[in-house]
Amino acid sequence: MLKGKIAIVTGGSRGIGRAIALKFAENGADVAVVYAGNSQAAEETCAAAESFGVKCKAYRCDVADFEATKALTAEVLKDFGRIDILVNNAGVTRDGPVAMMKEQDFDTVVGVSLKGAFNMIRHCSRTFMHQKSGRIISLSSVAGLTGNPGQANYSAAKAGIVGLTKSAAKELAGRGVTCNAIAPGFIDTDMTKEMTDKAREAVVGAIPLKRTGSPEDIAALAAFLADDGASYITGEVIRVDGGLCI
Ligand code: NAP
Repeated sequence: MLKGKIAIVTGGSRGIGRAIALKFAENGADVAVVYAGNSQAAEETCAAAESFGVKCKAYRCDVADFEATKALTAEVLKDFGRIDILVNNAGVTRDGPVAMMKEQDFDTVVGVSLKGAFNMIRHCSRTFMHQKSGRIISLSSVAGLTGNPGQANYSAAKAGIVGLTKSAAKELAGRGVTCNAIAPGFIDTDMTKEMTDKAREAVVGAIPLKRTGSPEDIAALAAFLADDGASYITGEVIRVDGGLCI
């Protein structure tokens, strides 16, 4: 149970982040939902979370912006009084072959998906160190573990999450803070919906469990990593991919 805990979930308006926010709310946590621009989706997440009897507030913030994330963290602290759990889930893709990739597309993906996680860890870790407790959970991807053609930028960002997670885990362990990463395989969200039936069939064919994943498959692990039962797990990168990378 997460009763009385305060969680920040970046990218909590849609997809995996929304499922994590709702699972946390179901388990009793108050949630700060961070989103980029889709305020309607963020408000829908908050309304659904509040139906579990917890507090939930949406914050518009570009996680790639260092100063904006600093102000965000201060605002969440003011609104909720403390922060116990940080989920770095916000991420974007700008796919294309590396030989043709625009500089901006590399910078945007690394800026949101990797620097965004650094920014949030940077600003929340002082609070965690002061409290002598905290949970950091960041979304990597199997693309960061194995590479993926057409996703050099995204794979680099997601591999970066692994190094960031392990380094922060070593640094913060002495203060009672754990830091872990989740590496999803193919999960059905807006990020993966632009796919032909044929391409989807090929993906499912390569997954030993013969199905794509749901956001709830990821949320279940996030809730476990945030809970007391996971207090001796840190520096881990856990795949949730139906066996894709076995
Ligand atoms: P999604 O459905 O595309 O949702 C992306 C979320 O990130 C939205 O809430 C969006 O906010 C937010 N966001 C985007 N840019 C942002 C920014 N600059 N600042 C703050 N928030 C921002 O994505 P998803 O599929 O749920 O993926 C969630 C995470 O899991 C990502 O890190 C992704 O890389 C990772 N992942 C996904 C898969 C998959 O198969 N889906 C696989 C492996 C890893 P708005 O609603 O306001 O746009």
